Formats: sequence, structure tokens, C-alpha cells
Amino acid sequence: MDNQTIKKSCTDKQCAVTGTDAHYQALVASAAAAILVIDESGVIIDANPYTHTLLGYDHRQLVGNNVECLMPPEHEGKHQHYLMQYLTGGEAKVIGTGRRVKARHVDGHLVPVHLAVSEVQIDSRREFIGIMSDLSALTQAQASVKHERNQLKTIINAIANPVFVRELGGRYTMANHACVQAVGVDNVEALADAFAQLLPKGGRETLNALDHQLTMNGEPVHTDVTLNDGRTFKLAKTLIHHLEGEPYAIVTVAYDATPLLNAMKDAERANQAKSDFLSAMSHELRTPLNCVLGYAQLLMNATSPALEATQQQYVAQIHQSGRHLLALINDVLDLAKIEAGKISLNPSWAPLRPMICEAIDSLLPLAHRQTVSLRHTLPDTLNGDIYVDATRFKQVLINLISNAIKYNHAGGRVTVSTRQQAETITIAVTDTGIGIEQDKLSALFEPFNRLAAEQTHIEGAGVGLAVTQQLIAQMQGEITVSSEVGKGSCFAVTFPYRGQSLTEIASSSTPFTLTQPHRVLFIEPDVAQQRLMADWFEDWPLLTLTCVHDLSLAAAMAHTTPPSLFMVSHAVLDDTADQVQSRLGERPMIVVNVPDTESMQSHSDSIVTLASPVSGAALGRAMQTLLEDRA
Ligand code: ADP
Repeated sequence: MDNQTIKKSCTDKQCAVTGTDAHYQALVASAAAAILVIDESGVIIDANPYTHTLLGYDHRQLVGNNVECLMPPEHEGKHQHYLMQYLTGGEAKVIGTGRRVKARHVDGHLVPVHLAVSEVQIDSRREFIGIMSDLSALTQAQASVKHERNQLKTIINAIANPVFVRELGGRYTMANHACVQAVGVDNVEALADAFAQLLPKGGRETLNALDHQLTMNGEPVHTDVTLNDGRTFKLAKTLIHHLEGEPYAIVTVAYDATPLLNAMKDAERANQAKSDFLSAMSHELRTPLNCVLGYAQLLMNATSPALEATQQQYVAQIHQSGRHLLALINDVLDLAKIEAGKISLNPSWAPLRPMICEAIDSLLPLAHRQTVSLRHTLPDTLNGDIYVDATRFKQVLINLISNAIKYNHAGGRVTVSTRQQAETITIAVTDTGIGIEQDKLSALFEPFNRLAAEQTHIEGAGVGLAVTQQLIAQMQGEITVSSEVGKGSCFAVTFPYRGQSLTEIASSSTPFTLTQPHRVLFIEPDVAQQRLMADWFEDWPLLTLTCVHDLSLAAAMAHTTPPSLFMVSHAVLDDTADQVQSRLGERPMIVVNVPDTESMQSHSDSIVTLASPVSGAALGRAMQTLLEDRA
């Protein structure tokens, strides 16, 4: 290397050293960390500008002072000791390592910092460079995470339902107080063993399969599990994900449904007991009442000796009150049956007009007594079918029309009208009666709520509309009410309707040809049904109809004057049809209004059963067969 080359190389090296110094100076001046140089005795030799930003001290406030001024008060006086410890080969607390400490700000408050100290040897001197990074934001974030975690823990522990978390690997990592209590363990680690004891055979596998399904599709799953000790828990399981989106655990919230299930079983038992009681009471109450009614009717019709006028009145009163009581019992029993889900309706297409007319006819006497006019405005073209259970639909009509008469004024009006839509028909019962206050309309269908009518002389139990509403709902119909106090009310029911009747039209148009007179004894507790039958019989001049309410009365009557044929409502059959027939006296018998769903078997060829709703044509054909064809 020639001189020139050496010179150049030296100059280059100098340039390089100078350049590096400048870099370091810039680095120290612009670093977002406080950098301090201290000597062996702890005196600050230099500090970069960020020290001011971080701790508020001016350069001159630091240089020449002992680094102790930056330490929290409790560490004062210890720095020298730390340094000495280090220099004599003892334990290094921050030198060469780095740790979280607190530095004192010029205004006295403490700033969390990360402190890293390194040692530099300059000639024979040893100096130390301290680098402090601000941890305020991190500390604050960590504090708030801790706070939220504590809050969450408190909330989860306050939940009365057992909650636990199980990692996908199977390890339980969290369980709240309710969970450890319910399982009977002290801590979350004991959960796995406790569950193994409590779960029935195959239970673990089922739950694992559910967990697998949850992990696959992410949708929360719900299941019930009954433990070996008899408790049943409802479980809701949800997947927990890492921030990156990967699932890693499942949280299960359990609900001990045992008390509820036990209460439900008790309620079912109580309901069953109520139904049994009601069906027993139905028999116990209705049988003697029907007897009272039947004998009252016999007395009223008695001719030799005929009753005196006052006796007639008394008997008529007995009969009327008995009928009222029977209607009441029927309503209450209906409601009980509906509530117990034990009422079976058989909707079918049935001609609408005759049903409205029958309902109106059956209530004309009541309207007459109350001096209320009752009429319909049915168009002549109304000859289609409505889709209802015919018996129950008539019950609905009778209830609405009788209310319209009852809650009316002397001289008032009740009108039954129809409004046909595309596939439905609305039957409206409008009255000019007392009306109902708007704020009471919502309570109208509550059982036993008479909306203060109990303070009047108007008879009732407040059950009719409750039954009506339930029946309408079960027949997929609708009921609406509008009313104005002092002006009247309108109750409107809507059902499916088809304009062209496909149902056989009963009564006079029926092609059956009886040639001799016959007496028919009809055993039917429902007065409306009796009336319906009486209407049909008016068109059959050779047939005489007598209606009674119950079987024993029918048997008594048949003993003295045997009829040609018994017609028995399915509702009164308390035995097989064959046995009832032999009790009544071996005459031909027609069982009417048999629910479709029920199969009635009879071995006798003198018994015919007709499903509900019975058509006049079917009835005529059955009578023809039993009374003349077969004879
Ligand atoms: P009930 O007539 O036996 O009291 P309902 O269940 O049939 O029972 O009717 C409940 C109540 O609704 C009646 O007590 C009466 O206050 C009121 N209500 C029903 N229909 C009418 C009506 N058409 N006009 C005025 N009030 C009525």
C-alpha cells in the first residue's frame, strides 16, 4: 500500500467513524425512550430529549444529580446498594437484564416503565446506560383487561345457573359457583371425574357428539341430560373462538329443569284428576238432572189427571230452572274438557243456512220472552257449505244469539247477517242492546268474568264466551267484537266457506218412502239437537218424534209405550250400543252424532250408527232400512 493509499484509507475510516457517531446521536436524540448515562456512583452524566417528554425533567435538572431522583420514594437510598452489589459480582437487578419499574415524574407521580441498563467501559471508567420505555398505555390496557376479567368473573359467579367452559381437547378451564355446587366439587379440576360419575351410560358419548357437531357447524346446540341422580338439566352450548377466529372451547350454560318437570308432572296428575272428577261429576250431575227434566216434562204433558194451573206453573219453573242448570253444567264441563285438550272436533263441509235458521228458531222463545225481535237477513243465494264441526258451530251461534237477546232491552233487535268473502264467510250477530265498555272488551273471553253482569238480574256464569272463543279457535275460525255502550254490540265469526253446496240437503228433498206410521223415541240431552230433530220430523208426517233427555227415562217410557225405533245420541251412551239396546227393549236403534274418529262396533243388524254431523237424508235412509225394508 503506498502512502497515498494509506492516507485515503485513513480518511475513509475517519469519515466512517464520524458518520457512525452522527447516526448514534440522531438515534439517541430521536428515540421514543428515555436514555440516561450515569457514572459508577449513580450520578447522571447525560440524558436524551425524550427523558423530558417521559418524566418532565430538563436536561440541567438531571445532569449532575443522582439517578435516585428518578426512583420511587421507597427505593431512595437503595440505588447505591444495587450498583455496589452488581460491581462486586452480586445479583443484577436491572443491569444487563431489564424489568418493569416505576420512575418518578418531575411532578411526583410515578410512571410505569421498562428499564434496561447496560454497562459501558470507557478507558478505565465504567458507565451505565439506562433506557426507559413508557409502559403507561400498556399498563392501562392491562389494568382494564384485568378489571373486565374480574367483572366478568363476578357476573358469571353471580349467575344462578351452572356455567362451565371445556376446551376442545377435553380440559375443563372454568366453572362458576353454581356449577361446582351443582356437581358437588371444590374446583374446576375435579369436574371431569364428577361428570364421569354423574352422566348415565352413553351420556358422555352423546355430549361429545353434540360438541363435535357444534365445532363443525358453529350453531349453538341445546339438549337435555338426565343424570344418574335423577336430575334433568337443559344445556345450551356455544363455541368460543380465539381472536384469530379459531374455535378453542365450548361454554355450556345449564338449567336445572328438575323442579319444573316435577311441577309439570304434578300439574298433569292434577289435571288428570280434574278431568276424572269432571267426567264423574258430569255423569253424577247430568243423570239426575236429566231425570228431573224428563219427569217434569212428563208432568207438564200429563192429561189424566191434568195438573192444576198453579201446579203447571211450578212444574214449568222446575223445568226451566233445570234446563238452565243443565246448560250451565254443560258449559263448565265443555270449558274443562277444552282446557284439558280433551274435546275432539270433527270439522267437515256442512250447509250454513239451515244451521243459522235452526239456531234462530231454537232461540225464538227466549227472544219472545224478552220482547226482543230476532231475525236474519240471509240472502236467497246463501246455499253454500261452511267448514265447521256442525254441533259445535251451532253451539257458538246459540251462545252469541242468546247473549244478544239477554243483554238487550225490551223492544230491542237482534239480527243475524252474513258477509261472503272469496273463500270465507263472516256471520255477524248484531244487537241493539246494552253494549260493552271499550276497556272491558279485552276481558270478554275470560272464563267466569261477567264484566259486572253478575250485579244484574241477567242469568249467566260468564263461561259461554270463553267456550265459544276456544271452540272457534279449534275450528280454525276467528271471532271479532265491536261494541258501543248503550247502542249495542256485534259479534262476528269467520270460517272457510264454499258457495256451491256439495252436501246432501236434508229433510223434505230426501227420497225415502215410508208407508206406515212409526213412533221414534229420541234420547238426546242437548235441547238444540232435539229441536233440530223435531224440525226434520215435521217434514215426515208418518213419523212421530218424542224426545227425552236420558236413557233411564227412555227405558221407563218405552216400558209403557214401546216406540218403533230408538234414536240415541252418542253423547248418552254409557255402555256398548248392543247393551244399551237390550236395556231399552230390543227395538231397532240408530246411534246418531258419532264422532268420526271413534269406531263404533255393533254386532246387531238392528243398529245403525251415523257419524256427526248427521244429514236428514242419511237418517231417513237408516229409518227406512230399519223400520220397513228389514221388517
Ligand atoms: P254469561 O252470559 O253467562 O255471563 P258469557 O261468557 O256468554 O257469559 O259472556 C260474558 C260477559 O260478556 C257477559 O256476562 C256480559 O257481561 C258480556 N256480554 C256478552 N255478550 C254480550 C252482548 N251481546 N252485549 C253486551 N254484553 C255482552
